[in-house]
Amino acid sequence: MRPVGRGDIGKQVVDIQTRLAALGYFLGREGADGFFGPHTEHAIRAFQQQRLLFSDGVVEDNTWTELVEAGYKPGERLLYLRVPYMRGDDVLYLQRRLDELGFDCGPVDGIFSPGLEVAVTEFQRNTGLNVDGIVGETTFDLLRRLRKDSTHEYMVSIPDRMNGYVGRCEIKGLRVSVDAGHGGVENGALGVGGLKEKDVNLGLALELTRLLETQGALVYLTRDADVSLPLYQRTEAANAWAPDVHVCIHHNWSAGSKAEGAATYFFANSTYTSAGGRRLAGYIVNALSRELGRVDLRKHGRNYACLREVKPLAVMVEPGFISHPEEGLTLADPETMARESQAILHGIEAYLARL
Ligand SMILES: [Zn+2]
Repeated sequence: MRPVGRGDIGKQVVDIQTRLAALGYFLGREGADGFFGPHTEHAIRAFQQQRLLFSDGVVEDNTWTELVEAGYKPGERLLYLRVPYMRGDDVLYLQRRLDELGFDCGPVDGIFSPGLEVAVTEFQRNTGLNVDGIVGETTFDLLRRLRKDSTHEYMVSIPDRMNGYVGRCEIKGLRVSVDAGHGGVENGALGVGGLKEKDVNLGLALELTRLLETQGALVYLTRDADVSLPLYQRTEAANAWAPDVHVCIHHNWSAGSKAEGAATYFFANSTYTSAGGRRLAGYIVNALSRELGRVDLRKHGRNYACLREVKPLAVMVEPGFISHPEEGLTLADPETMARESQAILHGIEAYLARL
């Protein structure tokens, strides 16, 4: 657009003034009269300052875009993933709320990108909403309600369980419980080429155990064979053994064949986030992405029983999608499992190094 500033007249100025007035800026008694006078300029400067823009009182592309985005109130329009990405203060509000609730949607930047869609569907799944990735009034209502319920507890720094304290600062002597998800009659997800999640989980858990033991760690496996084991029995057994770190192994699945990448999870609910778990989950997913070239699907706070029930530092690792045509097939490969185990080990080492 052609920059609009002091002395300009016309419909575009009316549009700018109307938006400023809607945002509560004072335009003088003349109001939206289509003349870019001192009041309008003053209002634009104030707006630019508030939005951390270059404050020159002139409306160019950046300021105009911000003016448009500032006008979007949460719930006034449907938000979803499209190209070009939707932008606005409603998106910003959505990101901030999801972030506070422990759903990792990347930078809180007001842009509805693919990462945000993942976070939205996760939120919808967790709260029993229709899982369509579309954010309308229902989703916003729930986001607002969840805020009211926990105004006082949110974002308050509560000490982590055991302050994220681990009794050791090296792998040697570290007690690690490794839980391979599913087993026995419980297959878990079914992947490409007849892959069963329970088998891939166990394969990786055994490889990780072998590697950790060669490094001098003490490892407890919740299951070392293809057997069924109730969830709470696993966590109870792990607690009884008193590990320093609990690693739960699963693999991701999606109905769409395109989903791929590594993700990790740490304990969080509406009022609490395990800071230590969050850090460890971050180091592990970074290592998986860096060392194996996996798409980085980041770390996510979850209220999963396998994370909530275990007393020490707990993370859940999903190194990849068994539903992905290429990634899925490599996951059962012993060499891949060895590299994934290395990455998980490096993630734990990074955590210990920064205690
Ligand atoms: Zn699973």
